[in-house]
Formats: sequence, C-alpha cells, structure tokens
Amino acid sequence: MIDFRSDTVTRPTRGMLEAMINAPVGDDVFGEDPSINQLESAAAGMFGMEAALYCPSGTMSNQIAIKCHTRPGDEVICASNAHVYIYEGGGIAANAGSQVRALEGDQGRITATQVSGAINPDDVHKARTSLVCLENTSNRGGGSCYDFQEILRIRQLCQDHGLALHLDGARLFNALVHKGESPAQYGEVFHSISICLNKGLGCPIGSILMGSRDFIRQARRVRKVFGGGLRQAGYMAACGLYALENHIDRLSEDHLHARRIAEGLSRKSFIDHILPVETNIVIAEVRKPDTAAGIAGRLHQLGIRVIAISPAQLRFVTHLDISAAMVEKALDIIEDL
Ligand SMILES: *Cc1c(COP(=O)(O)O)cnc(C)c1O
Repeated sequence: MIDFRSDTVTRPTRGMLEAMINAPVGDDVFGEDPSINQLESAAAGMFGMEAALYCPSGTMSNQIAIKCHTRPGDEVICASNAHVYIYEGGGIAANAGSQVRALEGDQGRITATQVSGAINPDDVHKARTSLVCLENTSNRGGGSCYDFQEILRIRQLCQDHGLALHLDGARLFNALVHKGESPAQYGEVFHSISICLNKGLGCPIGSILMGSRDFIRQARRVRKVFGGGLRQAGYMAACGLYALENHIDRLSEDHLHARRIAEGLSRKSFIDHILPVETNIVIAEVRKPDTAAGIAGRLHQLGIRVIAISPAQLRFVTHLDISAAMVEKALDIIEDL
C-alpha cells in the first residue's frame, strides 16, 4: 500500500528510535524531564519566543491557546474551513465557551480587510471579539501558504483593536520551506503559535505551543486541566528534537512529490481541476458522474490509499514515508486508471 491519506501515518525512523532509547527523562509535571525542557527551549529559541509547552496533540495546543486568549461569550475570528473550527470537535464552544465568526477564505486564507469587517463594535448586543486564528499552511485549503505581508496587516489590526493573534502552524514548516521564510519572522508577529511534530516532521505524537512567559504559564495550567500533564514523555520529546534537526529541510522533497502527483492527476479525464499545489497536499476535484469515494475505492484496490474529503474532493498528502519510487509507481497506477 502507498498511503497518501495523511502525513500523520509515518512510522518513527531509526534515528528517532535511537534518540528515544537514549533520552534522559524525568517527571515533566514536576518540570524535571530534561528532554522535554530541551525541546521546549529549542523551539522557543528557534521562533524567538519567550517560552514553549510540549503537548500531546496539535488539537490540544490550539484549544489551550484559544482558552487562554478568550473568556466565555467571546468571539474568535477564523476561516470557515479552519481546523480549529471544523475539525476540533466543537472545542472552541466546549472548552473556551466562545463562538466563532467564520470568514470565507481563499483556500483557507483570510484577509485583513475581512478581519477588519468582522471585529465587533463595543456594544452590549455583541460578543466581545478577542482573538484571530490563522492557519498556515491551510489544511482544507490544500496546503496553501499565507503571503507574509497580509499576516503583518492582520497583526496591525489586532494591535489596534487589542486582539490576540494565534497561529495554527500544524504545517508551518512546510510553509517556511516553500516560502524561504524563517521561524523568527513568525515568532515576532504572533502572540501564540502551535506547531505539530506528528505531521510532516514525522514524530509519533506531539505538538509545541509557544508564546510569552506569562501565556505559557497559564497554558501549562490549562494543559493540566485538559488532562495533558505528562510524566516521562521525554522519550517522545526526543523524537521532536531529532525531527527539528533532521526533518525540516527534507520537506521540499514532499512538495516536489505533491507537484508530481498533481501533474499526473491533471491528465486524467475524471479530474475536473486541482487546487494550486504549494506544499505537501493535493486536493483534486472529481468530475461528475464520478465521485471522490468511487475513485478512492478504485485506487485502494490498486494499492493506493487516499481520502475523499468531500463528495467531489480527493486528497493526497505526501510525507516522510513516501519515497520517489513510490510516487513513480503511484503515477503509473493513476495513468492506467
Ligand atoms: C492536524 C492538524 C491539527 C492538529 O492535529 P492533531 O492530530 O490533534 O495533532 C491542527 N491544525 C491543522 C491545520 C492540522 O492539519
């Protein structure tokens, strides 16, 4: 099976397993796990942010951040297809007691003009707007990347209105590699950033939330409330350290593979169009009478796994466990379909 369902299906590499075996560990709830402490300070240093918190999942990092930045009854501005809104089990309502102002983005990207129009006035009828969440790359937007100038404009608006700005950076490293940008650039602009270690970076689990010292102190408390206080999780943090050192630059290979897959798909009559491919995600729209589930089923029989993310949309994701040879084999299978 060639598994393009998600970049979360990777197995730890030999290097990661060795890093795990050799990791010094301790009880992280006591702040005594050297590997977690090292990972948190490495990530914070990389982004030029004051502090960081290791979390079991990207969902937990995002939900902790949203809870810290809001009060019950507040409103969070994000794209209508944002992961924090549509893929986190209603967590904004359940965990933070806040509601969402969803904006129709361009492949998941919202603009400063849109944000400006969505900030509620100081009026007792209205929810208090307190937070803007951006997602880079956008998962449901097909791995699209923000223009950094637009992010700066949104940051200025947040500053002018006293709003917090959070980045769901589950795949931020894919964007950084694609755009030739630096982590520090993002650390300077956002009040909090979550990154995933369990996506393109290839770790079995893990995410890191970053922000100011005060924010992370509060986040550590919320993580405990959410049941995310960890003990000897340094074995997992060691994978994260290994990934930050070894698995970032190689993301460009995944991006090349995604472009190859998109080229192969574009020649097929059952494909109507493909969202522009910037990073490691390919979203292809299937032409009627074919359906995404139907094509996914035929591909499965031929040894390729993909996800039908809507009745007409197929998603391919490239990752650490997809080799160039597997891409060529997949292209042959697609060609014959
Ligand atoms: C995967 C993902 C997350 C978090 O996922 P977890 O599986 O909880 O680690 C958050 N945001 C985006 C955009 C994602 O793709």
